[in-house]
Amino acid sequence: MKPTNGQQIISLFEQWAPKSLAVEGDSIGLQIGTLNKPVSKVLVTLDVNSKVVDEAIEKQCELIIAHHPPIYRSLKNVRTDLPQGSLIEKLIKHNIAVYAAHTNLDIASGGVNDLLADRLQLKNVQILEKTASEHLMKLAVFTPKESTEQVRVALGNAGAGEIGDYRNCSFTSAGEGRFKPTEDADPYIGQANKLSIVEEDKIEVVFPISIKNRVLKALLSSHPYEEPAYDLFQLESEVNEKGLGRIGELPQQVSLADYAKTVKDQLQVPFVRVVGKLDSNVHKVAVLGGDGNKYIHAAKRAGADVFITGDLYFHVAQDAEAINLAVIDPGHHIEQIMKTGVSDYMKTVCKNKQLLVEFIPSEISTEPFQLI
Ligand SMILES: [Zn+2]
Repeated sequence: MKPTNGQQIISLFEQWAPKSLAVEGDSIGLQIGTLNKPVSKVLVTLDVNSKVVDEAIEKQCELIIAHHPPIYRSLKNVRTDLPQGSLIEKLIKHNIAVYAAHTNLDIASGGVNDLLADRLQLKNVQILEKTASEHLMKLAVFTPKESTEQVRVALGNAGAGEIGDYRNCSFTSAGEGRFKPTEDADPYIGQANKLSIVEEDKIEVVFPISIKNRVLKALLSSHPYEEPAYDLFQLESEVNEKGLGRIGELPQQVSLADYAKTVKDQLQVPFVRVVGKLDSNVHKVAVLGGDGNKYIHAAKRAGADVFITGDLYFHVAQDAEAINLAVIDPGHHIEQIMKTGVSDYMKTVCKNKQLLVEFIPSEISTEPFQLI
């Protein structure tokens, strides 16, 4: 095991929840302090308040990973006589950095919404509201017969030809290639000013646009020709869909009243608020951690019988009632599921890399509501 630093930890984290996934305008990334320092303990928390900072100091954590950004709107001042300024002052005094992963962690596969869908034991889970996807590209390359296998293998190793659960998918057809090298050329086959005809194969593979450079690099380094002939197209089809919220199914349908009790138990909250007919049956469940007021219509459109989300407004609850969508509001604090979710994920990743770093889920509840 070897010591590590903030930079290395966060770059591993961002392979899972890249900043590019976040919705526009979100405040994410390093917010306080620096990542250019050794880090041996990371506190993972939903929110950063003064109790959480005290916990980080006490547990000697050099870095906090938070879901809710402590600096959400731009700061006009850092007044240490006000709560936010004094929080920042305390963090800086103790050399504790704060990194925020907000909507990028909601959207990431295995992030907050997948953790919730998992906890709610939903099956056939899909994205509720798509926020990103990427186009597929198709590469067609012509190779001399004896080099076909090595080019095909190199393309496959670079990630081309991955379709769903299949790897190394490609199509190869045979044909004839013709070319006449000039006097300045350094041809692999043939002579200057003489037309050559060679037996060639055409390999066709598809890959997501994000790995285009890697695939072309693999092609150019494995192909024997000085100037390989290839075509590159962007396809209409899209892959790698990402999005907010999830929708899935319960193993069997149950009454809304029974399901509300199950949700309360599974998410370990003292109460839930419910909109809808308690004796109606629910089977398809949409979930969106945090404030999902904007997504009741998306949940209805996706065919959800019930939508689980927090911070439900009075009028949005009335709108949900009007479109016959049941809603269960277990509160915003259910997102605390990310404390163990992120810690467990990062522990595994860092262990595989032999990095000496601990991830500690915060023990402080940042739920401001009490039930009387
Ligand atoms: Zn939230």
